[in-house]
Amino acid sequence: SDSLEETAIRQLDENTVARIAAGEVVERPASAVKELLENSLDADASRVDVTVEAGGTDLIRVADDGHGMSEADLRAAVREHTTSKIDGLEDLESGVSTLGFRGEALHTIGSVSRLTIRSRPRADGEDATAGAGTELVYDAGEVERVEPTGCPEGTSVEVTELFANTPARRKFLKTTATEFAHVNRIVTRYALANPDVAISLTHDDREVFATTGQGDLQAAVLAVYGREVASSMIPVEATGDELPPGPLESVSGLVSHPETNRSSREYLATYVNDRAVTADAIREGIMGAYGTQLGGDRYPFVVCFLEVLGEAVDVNVHPRKREVRFDDDDAVRRQVDSAVESALLEHGLLRSGAPRG
Ligand code: ADP
Ligand code: MG
Repeated sequence: SDSLEETAIRQLDENTVARIAAGEVVERPASAVKELLENSLDADASRVDVTVEAGGTDLIRVADDGHGMSEADLRAAVREHTTSKIDGLEDLESGVSTLGFRGEALHTIGSVSRLTIRSRPRADGEDATAGAGTELVYDAGEVERVEPTGCPEGTSVEVTELFANTPARRKFLKTTATEFAHVNRIVTRYALANPDVAISLTHDDREVFATTGQGDLQAAVLAVYGREVASSMIPVEATGDELPPGPLESVSGLVSHPETNRSSREYLATYVNDRAVTADAIREGIMGAYGTQLGGDRYPFVVCFLEVLGEAVDVNVHPRKREVRFDDDDAVRRQVDSAVESALLEHGLLRSGAPRG
């Protein structure tokens, strides 16, 4: 009969499995920032402060004023596949409204770093006595200590020693400037999509930006990109019959005057059903609307929210995947082109009869 001795195939221990999984979830500091920021937004925070040092390789801290966690919650949260967001497959099929639900982020980040989590539940719930805070230290996949601590309501998660136990991954990291650019891009995407949350980003003790959380997209653009860009933005708003036929229900947001442009696509912030995504059809629609108003290889500043009804796009795509595909790319391209072109025309920003690219 079978004996384990006779096979070279072995079951990996839990820590090794987690570390391998972490390689996929946490590719670089920016991926940890994304997961922590999503957790803060899922916790209904009205402010989130992101602090990083050395592009996130020395320190990442994400502090929020969200609903917080009790000691029991904290202990559970760092375990494998633990989530408070869904109960099972039925919830998945009826649609998930939170950003996370896989219950793997804290566990996997914690398997390749040292996590210090401080949390205190909001006292405004049914449990008005839940006012005490807890600090949990999780190091390379093990709970090191849990103790009471004084801290404000909400949660702060600190990540240090990232990839210290996975030297190959650590070596793959780029310069501080490059890693910070990735962090900046992620935090910017979420700050623009959540103007009702005050989101700040600090790098090596320098505040990079801070939105007010007053709910105004124009104000968020001002905070993130500065006055020159903000003052050149014009509104896009097209819904229903104002759009050519296609899967999009609405296209709204802000796009820049053609003269305010950059040589990078990075400033095309596009969202489908509030998820930051990139898609060729969307980009081509935008670029088509500007036509020859932009020089070769120049891109406008865009913050554009697309609403899709039904199943024309899979929005529960893999969390690392930002690229989406539509069933009908051509229709999406025409719809985006039309919405942006109308906005530019209305503001006299297209030369009539100019050849379109
Ligand atoms: P997921 O977000 O997929 O549920 P995570 O590993 O990211 O999985 O988080 C596990 C659980 O920890 C969450 O479901 C949530 O209950 C809790 N949690 C994590 N971060 C926070 C936070 N900032 N505030 C409150 N609860 C949190
Ligand atoms: Mg999460």
